[in-house]
Amino acid sequence: MSASKRPNLDTVTTINRDGSRFAIHPADVFGRFTVLRRLVALLLIAVYGLLPWIPVNGNPAVFLDIMNRRFHLFGLTLATQDLWLLVFLISGLAFTLFYVTAFLGRVWCGWACPQTVFLEHVYRRVERWIDGDAPNRRKLDKAFWSPGKIVRRLLKHAIFIVFSALIAHVFLAYFVSIPELWSWMRQSPFEHWSSFLFVGIITLTLYANFAWFREQLCIVICPYGRMQSALVDEHTLNIAYDYQRGEPPGPVSDPNAGDCIDCRRCVQVCPTGIDIRQGLQLECVGCANCIDACDQIMDRVNRPRGLIRYASEEELEGRRTRWLRPRAYLYTGLLLLGISVAGFAFSTVKPISAQVTRMTGSAFYISEDSIRNQYRVNLLNKSTQAQTFRIEPVVAAEWADAVVVERQSWELGPSEERSVTWVVRVPLETYTGGFPLEIQVTAEPGGWQVKRELNFVGPDPSLLQQ
Ligand code: SF4
Ligand code: SF4
Repeated sequence: MSASKRPNLDTVTTINRDGSRFAIHPADVFGRFTVLRRLVALLLIAVYGLLPWIPVNGNPAVFLDIMNRRFHLFGLTLATQDLWLLVFLISGLAFTLFYVTAFLGRVWCGWACPQTVFLEHVYRRVERWIDGDAPNRRKLDKAFWSPGKIVRRLLKHAIFIVFSALIAHVFLAYFVSIPELWSWMRQSPFEHWSSFLFVGIITLTLYANFAWFREQLCIVICPYGRMQSALVDEHTLNIAYDYQRGEPPGPVSDPNAGDCIDCRRCVQVCPTGIDIRQGLQLECVGCANCIDACDQIMDRVNRPRGLIRYASEEELEGRRTRWLRPRAYLYTGLLLLGISVAGFAFSTVKPISAQVTRMTGSAFYISEDSIRNQYRVNLLNKSTQAQTFRIEPVVAAEWADAVVVERQSWELGPSEERSVTWVVRVPLETYTGGFPLEIQVTAEPGGWQVKRELNFVGPDPSLLQQ
């Protein structure tokens, strides 16, 4: 960061007084958190990239097959009628994020958010490789458009576009099977223009975000950072400056100064351009760069590390951080309750489904010898093997002999959905009025069963005798 621009609590460092953008060029930083974060980032990039490839129960680990309305999540297959379960998934993920924030602050932002992972560990690495360290990058920004600058800019942005296209294709792989995506990639864009457009828009959006918008997404757009103050309390571990130890800042030679030597190294490495010494701020994405930077300085001046560290407000005040506190009990209780309800809801999902509706038209039909009710049964085989569906009526003993069913079994291939007509007849001589009827669908060899309750309806029996 330019030495002429000092962060303050009244303005955003990345915006100049005239509203123009102030480009942040964080200085290189080395240390234990930098190494750990890089390892975590590599692991996460591998996970993001591999999830659509790793098969679980015959389907990709995560495959949101919108075209066929099947959603595969780690071996569980959801059909459209199961989508209400996503409420648990989305609200569960959001609540888990809140839960983690209450204890560890914005650890998600600094360590696992795709914005940070790709910006810091992919795009900024490319930029560092092509444009050099922070002072060189700033110099290049201000330099005239010499042939050298043009070549560097073209190379950098070409690589940015290639990476953006790669990420966009991986993103598309979550919605289209890998073999299908591969075949699309080898065909003309006009044969799958909507997907081509989708990938094109995602590529351009990613490129604009990672090449230009960058930290503005966290500071201006992301709502999570704004909720931070409501989610943390004085016992939450945040990245914090130990002002008791550091203040007043001054040179090493000054016996009255604190441990902070006012070198501003923590500011120079900050990707959002803030000064952590001014306290916890919305712009802090918890990247821990300032911890490593300050630890390096402390090593050089022979002072203990940890002037900037993960610490709670209570700890900075010299009191004990309490992990077990009312907020912790409440959040843990709610989390356990949510996990139990979601676990039960997901356990009800079966690899088959059967939706039964009475066929449109008359509720019943009377022929010479019987009364007929007709149902439309939508059978769905969500498993990866063929299943034979058998549909049987379950009725009270007194009706058992009276009910006649026309066809009882259908063979459905893997992931096949079929709408069948199921007819129940009751001979006129045994008919004495409507009765409750249960339809039982069994799929073999899985042995799964689904039951639905219905009513057999017909005319008033006395009218038939006239
Ligand atoms: S890096 Fe450490 S010593 Fe230097 S200004 Fe920041 S807090 Fe002070
Ligand atoms: S203040 Fe420290 S932890 Fe927060 S964004 Fe800046 S460098 Fe990262």
